[in-house]
Amino acid sequence: MPATIIDGKALAERVRARVKTGVVDLAEQKLTPGLAVVLVGEDPASAIYVRNKGAAAKECGVQVFDHKLPADTSQTDLLELVARLNEDPFVDGILVQLPLPPQIDAKKIIAAISPDKDVDGFHPISAGLLALGTPGFVPCTPKGCMALLREANAELRGARALVVGRSNIVGKPMGQLLLMADATVTMAHSRTANLAEEVGRAQILIVAIGRAKAIKGEWVREGAIVIDVGMNRDDKGKLCGDVEFETARERAGAITPVPGGVGPMTIAMLLDNTLLSAQRRAQSAKT
Ligand code: NDP
Repeated sequence: MPATIIDGKALAERVRARVKTGVVDLAEQKLTPGLAVVLVGEDPASAIYVRNKGAAAKECGVQVFDHKLPADTSQTDLLELVARLNEDPFVDGILVQLPLPPQIDAKKIIAAISPDKDVDGFHPISAGLLALGTPGFVPCTPKGCMALLREANAELRGARALVVGRSNIVGKPMGQLLLMADATVTMAHSRTANLAEEVGRAQILIVAIGRAKAIKGEWVREGAIVIDVGMNRDDKGKLCGDVEFETARERAGAITPVPGGVGPMTIAMLLDNTLLSAQRRAQSAKT
């Protein structure tokens, strides 16, 4: 029987509706969540991401502060902007769109963002708290993947989970979240000896490698729940994931499509984190 398709678009709409309600509740306390979105340079893909994030935030009633800087912006100038945003009482979340131009050290910029406004969850303190099992802000993509697993009614406790990809923004935090949910987690990467074998064992499979259709459908364990984070173009220029969708869906129990799976959830979770930050501000204003 073909897999159930996990509809990330529909789930993201529900998350955004919940965020909207949260924003209305905060308005009663005369507080509007604020998100600063910083784009350095004119990378077309980054410009689209930033536009989509900004539009989704506005649609939920979040106030967006756009900061578009030229490609030759110095690291000092960007650090100064981040310092100003850290101090700005109307800014609950700071998002600096990656990648940054070569003259800027992204690690330094991320570390300069106040952990209280780190809605992307990339700050070393956010990463450390997650590793300790006491998360602060959780990175948006893995947080969205967890919501998709819940949507698919995945039983995580004791399940064999495989995360393919070990980036700091997707793979590693994903592994931590699955561990916190009591799954038995394996992390695979480009040096993994027998990927097909690892995939074949996984009841929960999360793939974030950025290689079009690299995970073959025939490798997938019968009944596995498959979350495909990848966003690639196939040889015909069509958007596709890291998993060979048509063949994988014949074996999986449930699977996310690309597009319409993880992508919309990433944006929804950014808004969720921004609301969370604003709610904390409201709480601290009361005490
Ligand atoms: P990175 O390039 O930072 O990391 C890729 C990881 O995949 C690395 O750990 C690398 O291993 C591993 N890898 C690469 N090739 C293989 C292979 N053939 N077999 C096994 N492992 C491999 O990517 P990101 O984590 O940033 O992104 C991954 C994908 O997810 C991309 O397609 C990206 O566009 C997409 N993405 C989608 C988002 C969404 O909202 N839908 C959000 C973020 C990312 P090693 O460490 O050994 O080099």
